[in-house]
Amino acid sequence: MCAILDLIKQYSDQELAFLYTYHIESYMEETQSQIRDYIRHVRGLSDLTIAQIVEDVAHSSSTLGCPRCHSLNWNIYDVQWEVPLSTRQESLIQSPIEQERDPNHFPQKTKIDCNICGYVIHDPNESFWTSLKKTVSFKK
Ligand SMILES: [Zn+2]
Repeated sequence: MCAILDLIKQYSDQELAFLYTYHIESYMEETQSQIRDYIRHVRGLSDLTIAQIVEDVAHSSSTLGCPRCHSLNWNIYDVQWEVPLSTRQESLIQSPIEQERDPNHFPQKTKIDCNICGYVIHDPNESFWTSLKKTVSFKK
């Protein structure tokens, strides 16, 4: 059995519905068809059932986990912080030794996205206003 099937067989029907609806395009075509086959033929989830699950979660009042699918299966990793130096407050507290070693030093910041639906939960390179708009759009 391939690695992706080993992974997704641990997912709930809800997680599979969101993976199928929002995140399947991020996989290679061959992997996409393996995922589709598994969801349809092994788990027995039809397009209609998947759409219903996604609809139900969208109307739930839960605020747990990912704002879109409520999963706690997150991908947490470091990315280069690309905010311009002039707007970085942390440049003020960067030690002189650190600045001397690499004047163009861009620190690493944590980025968080949802492993299930691909929703970007936290992006240090996203502007405050973009982030606020995203948060507000998920409020009921
Ligand atoms: Zn999600």
